Amino acid sequence: MSADDKELLQTLVKILQVAGAAVNGNASDGDEQKDNPVAASAVPQGEAPSCSIKTLPDRLFVPAAQTAIKVNPVNAPALAVSSMLAANVPFEPMAIAVMTSKYWGPTPRQLTVNFLESTPADLRARILSHMNAWARVSCVTFVETQGAADVRISRGPGGYWSYLGTDILHIPKDRPTMNLEAFTMNTAESEYLRVVRHETGHTLGFPHEHMRQELVARIDPQKAYDFFYRQYGWNKTAVDQQVLTALDQQSIFATPPDQTSIMCYQLPGTITKDGQPIQGGLDINGTDYAFAAQIYPKLASSTMDAPDDAQKSSADRDAWSASEDVEVTV
Ligand SMILES: [Zn+2]
Repeated sequence: MSADDKELLQTLVKILQVAGAAVNGNASDGDEQKDNPVAASAVPQGEAPSCSIKTLPDRLFVPAAQTAIKVNPVNAPALAVSSMLAANVPFEPMAIAVMTSKYWGPTPRQLTVNFLESTPADLRARILSHMNAWARVSCVTFVETQGAADVRISRGPGGYWSYLGTDILHIPKDRPTMNLEAFTMNTAESEYLRVVRHETGHTLGFPHEHMRQELVARIDPQKAYDFFYRQYGWNKTAVDQQVLTALDQQSIFATPPDQTSIMCYQLPGTITKDGQPIQGGLDINGTDYAFAAQIYPKLASSTMDAPDDAQKSSADRDAWSASEDVEVTV
């Protein structure tokens, strides 16, 4: 174990205590979500069925995990780290990094948004309104800015994707954190509901619901390999990462897997063992809203700016205090 690893371990042990106290009595019972990022880079360029979560390059996994924990200590994989310590498992920073979730903290927060291409005002407003559908119940809001923004949206080629939660802090400021290929005012409203709200869920730190173990277990792996290769040219590794890798059971999720969650892919019955499709979400549903309200409680914001009072203020920036000193490595 290197000196750096020891330092990180000591930090994580401290975080265990903080996180344990912070989540005590909450739905997670102190368990932390084991984030299981998938490598979008493994997906060949081209058409994607829905969305692939973009992940940072390997060299940024550990810094990104440290950022996530700094922004919100509850992100620390407390239970996993405890278990590793108890079992004297050699400490692997990379292993810890992939078990770290990416949620912003439970304090009110405005994430600023801008558009990398020239985008008409009505389209900008429409996209923002769908992003802020989550703010109906949560204390995180999105507000457009002309200057440097936390969330950078491109409408260029590459399909639909977003980086996950606090990972966006590690993306170079001139590069997108979210892609909404070819969205215009002519795009159907149903696509705004299905895609913009889904990608915004990733920006809030929500992974893919279909990767919950109970849903993954319904998929026939060989049929999935054949299907995704035939339809989209995905290789086995890509299918493993994007479709077949279950999120850990010891998760912050308190709800049963929900195949109509906005964070769930639509998957055809031809690749499931029982022949029944996984429906996939078409809009934020009640369970999604309940989860967002739990992770980002609005009550805590009652003394701060209301979400519909979307003007930037010093109070909003104060909400960033936990992340102000985050070092962006890229
Ligand atoms: Zn997605």
